[in-house]
Amino acid sequence: MPSKYWSDFVQGLDPYVPGEQPKQQDLIKLNTNENPYPPSPKVVEVLNQDAVKLLRLYPDPSNSLLKTAIANYYNMDLGNVSVGNGSDEILAFAFQAFFKQRLPILFPDITYGFYTVYCGLFDIDYTQIPLADDFSIKLSDYQRENGGVIFANPNAPTGIGKSLQSIEVLLQSNTESVVIVDEAYVDFGAESAASLVGRYPNLLVVQTLSKSRSLAGSRVGFALGSTVLIEALEKVKNSFNPYSVDRLAEAAAVAAIDDVAYFEQCCAKIIKTRQWVSEQLESLGFEVLPSQANFVLIRPTSISAPELFTQLRQHNIVVRFFKKPRIDAYIRVTIGSDNEMIALVDALKEILLQRR
Ligand SMILES: *Cc1c(COP(=O)(O)O)cnc(C)c1O
Repeated sequence: MPSKYWSDFVQGLDPYVPGEQPKQQDLIKLNTNENPYPPSPKVVEVLNQDAVKLLRLYPDPSNSLLKTAIANYYNMDLGNVSVGNGSDEILAFAFQAFFKQRLPILFPDITYGFYTVYCGLFDIDYTQIPLADDFSIKLSDYQRENGGVIFANPNAPTGIGKSLQSIEVLLQSNTESVVIVDEAYVDFGAESAASLVGRYPNLLVVQTLSKSRSLAGSRVGFALGSTVLIEALEKVKNSFNPYSVDRLAEAAAVAAIDDVAYFEQCCAKIIKTRQWVSEQLESLGFEVLPSQANFVLIRPTSISAPELFTQLRQHNIVVRFFKKPRIDAYIRVTIGSDNEMIALVDALKEILLQRR
């Protein structure tokens, strides 16, 4: 309830609403794009008694071990890396560092919900560019004067990715403002723009360990960019919370990044499961958008999306429904384990059969 103690600013805030984290344990949870597989066993090893004892000390404010692990993985210098408490925090720093401009920033009409939330929080003007009819991002529509550009690749909640070449074409013409590529899902089959960082000083690539490295509960994200952009991000970070990545989170993140084999195995399994479940869903009559992410956006044809959401919930399966124009005929389903996807397909068959 609004109160007289609230500032006008807080009265006007429109916060992000995360997908539900239900208390019920036996649910099949396919609503927030978490990884069905646990973090690397190396993470368990480093979160030991010694690590706990070290908690009496503040973390390294420069998180240099974590930055080194990321820089090694992407073949970059430490000065091209910044880390934060989840990529949501990196995005918050980036919006403040680069997007408080005279001209509106540009992003797709259908994309990650936090972009409009941060524009509200930081008082940033924006223009939403409609996705094409096939729900892909049309980057040529972004070639106009702007205060910055941000898009997710692959996009959420569509799962549809953009080619590296099309991103480079945008960067070649858009040199006067910062372009942020939010790569939360890039490891599930899209191509990272990290390789372009050396050539485009206005490119910021943002990634997270929440999805492809199974560390959503730990909150670690990072940005890759020119030293000029990274310096600005760190200025904002150090004006807000120099210790945003804590010791346990840093240790876990380093172990997860260094275990490349485990990471690649998990991503490959999810991609394979996505292919299987996409075929199953299509044969059940669903429209399935072509996904390069760890989720699929699907449109049922013989039942409405909200109705399907409710029925799945009765089968103890939680998915995501967005009550928003253009996508309210769809539900988003996270790719879970093979067994979870088999249970999903079985439940869908039952639900559709009952309606005949
Ligand atoms: C999940 C997600 C994020 C945020 O991830 P963190 O858990 O905050 O690291 C950012 N962008 C998109 C598009 C996402 O889906």
